[in-house]
Amino acid sequence: MTAPRDDRRVRLATWPTPLEPAPRLSESIGLRAGDLRLKRDDLTGLGAGGNKIRKLEWTVGAAVADGADVLITTGAPQSNHARLTAAAAARLGLDSVLVFPGDPRPFVGNLLLDALLGTDIEWIGPIDGGSDTQTELDAAAQRVADRLRRQGRHPAIIPFGGSNSVGAHGYRLAGHEILEQAPNVDLVVCAVGSGGTMAGLVAGLGADHVLGVDTGAVPDAADRVRHILGGMDGVSATAALRIRTDQVGAGYESLAAGARHASTISARTEGLVLDPTYSARALAGLVAAVADGDVVPGTDVVFLVSGGLPGLFGHPQAQDLTVD
Ligand SMILES: *Cc1c(COP(=O)(O)O)cnc(C)c1O
Repeated sequence: MTAPRDDRRVRLATWPTPLEPAPRLSESIGLRAGDLRLKRDDLTGLGAGGNKIRKLEWTVGAAVADGADVLITTGAPQSNHARLTAAAAARLGLDSVLVFPGDPRPFVGNLLLDALLGTDIEWIGPIDGGSDTQTELDAAAQRVADRLRRQGRHPAIIPFGGSNSVGAHGYRLAGHEILEQAPNVDLVVCAVGSGGTMAGLVAGLGADHVLGVDTGAVPDAADRVRHILGGMDGVSATAALRIRTDQVGAGYESLAAGARHASTISARTEGLVLDPTYSARALAGLVAAVADGDVVPGTDVVFLVSGGLPGLFGHPQAQDLTVD
């Protein structure tokens, strides 16, 4: 498959995002002061920002080019991708529908912003233990699309997390953006959820230069990343991926011990507030990689701050962060 064409992109943010030093955090995790820099993809503005914007520029761009007037997507109830899909729709004058598992939940965190952004939320009820959540959500999204088509609308389904080869192209370009800001970068560290961010970075920088930290969002993160890479132009889908799986804790929705620690050190050394689900897990993965010698002092590291802060205010265990 060839790379998406530039005329099928919508601009949803101002690029490049900043690259900032983080000397106190760097030293506190056992690196040299100058080793670690922060790629501030939380500062993408629209809809409270985050990494999903780079992918949405391409997936929504394709939908708009094909005549869509309503965007449909799926995710967990605290999905940052869903919130930003609703924000992109608002910005572009489209409607949006978010399809979530379970029963209606209180409007906190991302859900509060979803409501504010004027999206329609479809709760599909509890998913029975024998079924795959994503399969059920995809089927529900198709039903919503069929219903809208019967009403004369032109719906487009944006994939889970925006993570197909089209969306991942946004992170391939982010890899190039990082190379312009940090020509000697050895390693970019990112969280892995639906996999498009890591896949794009691997496409842009090479597999050796990307360390992904699994958040437990999907059953097999490496498989997901490889699958997306397989649909991208001019990349090897067989290169050995560097993915740590030691930061999932009790599961995607839990506050993992490493993430809890990482949140505290980033806040207290740099005033940098991470989200407990993704970026704190990613930093915890870097902490663990330095501790076990996978990343050594003198390495030029860029840590992707990927946004997601609204999730902190919707996290069931957020109060645990207030006790040492
Ligand atoms: C979704 C998300 C990620 C992971 O990105 P994927 O492309 O889904 O793997 C990282 N950080 C935040 C804050 C996210 O919302």
